[in-house]
Amino acid sequence: MATTDDEHERTMAFAEIAIGQIKALRQPATPRNFEVWYCYATGYHPSLNETINEILARRGRLSDADVERICNTYLSPTRLSERIDNVGSKVVDEIDQVMAMVDVAIGSTTTCSENLAGVSRELPAADRNELRAIVESLVETSREMQEVNHKLEERLTASKLEISQLQRHLEVARNESLTDPLTTLSNRKFFDEALDKAIAEAFSENESLSLLLTDIDHFKNFNDTYGHLTGDQVLRLVAQCVKQNVKGQDIAARYGGEEFVVILPNTVMRSAVTVAEHIRRAVMSKELMKRSTGEHLGRVTISIGVAALRRGDNAQSLIGRADSCLYAAKRAGRNRVICDTDPEVNAAPAAAVA
Ligand code: GH3
Ligand code: MG
Ligand code: MG
Repeated sequence: MATTDDEHERTMAFAEIAIGQIKALRQPATPRNFEVWYCYATGYHPSLNETINEILARRGRLSDADVERICNTYLSPTRLSERIDNVGSKVVDEIDQVMAMVDVAIGSTTTCSENLAGVSRELPAADRNELRAIVESLVETSREMQEVNHKLEERLTASKLEISQLQRHLEVARNESLTDPLTTLSNRKFFDEALDKAIAEAFSENESLSLLLTDIDHFKNFNDTYGHLTGDQVLRLVAQCVKQNVKGQDIAARYGGEEFVVILPNTVMRSAVTVAEHIRRAVMSKELMKRSTGEHLGRVTISIGVAALRRGDNAQSLIGRADSCLYAAKRAGRNRVICDTDPEVNAAPAAAVA
């Protein structure tokens, strides 16, 4: 897991790129400009980078209007809480409007009932002309009721449409809040909930369950040599290898920094080790190349710890065992898979870990 120091170093690298760009273009160092350039430095929004590169290639500078447009297009809409608040207030508006229509309909029904009550009182004593007037007023009341009902029906149909659209927006926002933006795998929050659920289900159905914990080998060296932006590309690549080697009900997530986890429901240890081996080989088979320069960067390897659910386990104990296996894999020389029945797990640590 990345330490606070690592995180400091990594994010400072982005901040320095952002400040560098603001200086080079002599822009005001406002939070807004900083946010745009910081996001540019992370590369989280490839289309934001493309837009900026394209404007710079054309005009050599970014105007305030460009920054405004970029913020509105790529940054503001991704502010989750703002979007959720927005959806929430729209739902409230929608409900207010429907309630107002329902009030009108209730009012009309009351008037209609009062009219009918009046009619039934007047009816026995009415002569021919009075009878005609009564029938005419009844027809009028029923027409008014029909109109109110029709309007209510239209409003409810429009509301239904609007609410189902809002539901879709909420769904998108929820998915986003549970997704890691760099790798598009699920994030830690999603994983924590999913693991608790998967463990409960495995126990109640009497099924097996295994957990993989992966960590990139010597990744700090890689970042120090090639820079964090290239490091981030490697993270995307490893995430892709993980994704491509799991299926169906398996849940792959970014556990933190450069560590990934996979929950394998209904999977015994032996099969989980096979999945882990596939992921490890997929990663080491990739020849890395820096996109911008074509420079060859060699390969990266990963180590994987595999633990299978035992009676009495909870999420913490299962993760703990996968973590011990991972560190045993590091001790044993890295670029390997170790599971919690392997003898290396309890072996004494080697004198030095390079
Ligand atoms: P080991 O083989 O023992 O795992 O060595 P390591 O250098 O990989 O050590 P460790 O796992 O402790 O290192 C974590 C490093 O991962 C530190 C940091 O530079 C890098 N890292 C963590 N999160 C990110 C990230 O989001 N992007 C990039 N580029 N690097 C990250
Ligand atoms: Mg690590
Ligand atoms: Mg590592």
